[in-house]
Amino acid sequence: MDAMPSLPLTILFAVALLLSLLVKFWLATRQMRHVAAHRGAVPAAFAATVSLAAHQRAADYTLAKGRLGLLSTAFGSAVLLGWTLLGGLDALNAWLLATVQPAWGHMAYQLALLMGFTLVSAVLDLPFELVSTFRLEQRFGFNRTTPKLFVIDLLKNALVGALIGLPLAALVLWIMGATGGLWWLWAWGAWVGFNLLIMVVYPTLIAPLFNKFTPLADDSLKARVQALMQRCGFAAKGLFVMDGSRRSAHGNAYFTGLGAAKRVVFYDTLLAKLNPGEVEAVLAHELGHFKHKHITQRIVMVFGISLAALALLGWLAQQPGFYTGLGVMPNIGAPNDALALLLFMLALPVFSFFVSPLAAQLWRTHEFQADAYACAQSSGADLASALLKLHEDNAATLTPDPVYVRFYYSHPPASERLAALALRTA
Ligand SMILES: [Zn+2]
Repeated sequence: MDAMPSLPLTILFAVALLLSLLVKFWLATRQMRHVAAHRGAVPAAFAATVSLAAHQRAADYTLAKGRLGLLSTAFGSAVLLGWTLLGGLDALNAWLLATVQPAWGHMAYQLALLMGFTLVSAVLDLPFELVSTFRLEQRFGFNRTTPKLFVIDLLKNALVGALIGLPLAALVLWIMGATGGLWWLWAWGAWVGFNLLIMVVYPTLIAPLFNKFTPLADDSLKARVQALMQRCGFAAKGLFVMDGSRRSAHGNAYFTGLGAAKRVVFYDTLLAKLNPGEVEAVLAHELGHFKHKHITQRIVMVFGISLAALALLGWLAQQPGFYTGLGVMPNIGAPNDALALLLFMLALPVFSFFVSPLAAQLWRTHEFQADAYACAQSSGADLASALLKLHEDNAATLTPDPVYVRFYYSHPPASERLAALALRTA
């Protein structure tokens, strides 16, 4: 076997990390400068519908989020460097290999490595989550989470994560060790099966652990929504209202589940803000995603990309240079599977960042298609006013930087969506 040399990988990784950091900072400062420059006046297209106060609140919120984002990007890159080239993962691995492996064996040591990594990462992320929830979101009136609920959520997430994640990790590690050179194909099969299972059980078993779901009680809205769904030839298991207001004032509506287990969920915060016509139009937009098979397309794409990624990992995991190039000494006499998984998970986003605008571009196309569908099945004027209300309520800026939009936005900016809707309803 030709061993992959490690130095080129170190250089490639360091250059990609630096380049991605530069691009992220360049984009973020562009966005902040653009929003600040347009803070003084409501854009002409919205002059009749958006107040100057709301426009400036959105600008301030975007700027505050941008500043926190810069800080967290810089910190995240330092942590990534710490795990890899500066030897953090190597040290954690050496310690667990010496303590857990002799007493408990290969599998326990590998699971301990995954858990240790997850735990340290979560602790490092915590300050940013706290500042985001209790400072930023609080300051703009969005936060409804109490410190007590925050802690309960944290514990519940850890418990659910361990109950689901540990058996899955054990299964994948076992496959990696037991199925030979094509392990990545088996692991992919297990991962696909696991994801499909989660899609089926999430709405009924997992989501209710975090929120309360009550059947939609408003009879006239119910009749209206059911008429829309009948028009669109869509069946769902039920219409539910979720107590999103427990945690945040941001509103939303979504479909969840797979096949017959599908349900429609409205956030209570959405119902409080929109009139019945607007709720119907928002739902029609979501139905548009289903009619155009956007959800299926996304699932197929994710499964396809993960197959390619696992095949790549299948090859990389056999190259000593993959480990040493990213700052870790591979184990001798113990499996390297958990190490390979972690290194791959850490390094991949540094490279995939550069192709993420392609996905964002595709999602924006999907949004226009769903809007067009909503216009045909419901009222375009209602959808337009719903979009405007949601933008204002979420303090989303009406004047984003065009380059930032191209790179990051999974939804077209309000100005583009409303212009497209105006063309359709004219
Ligand atoms: Zn959409």
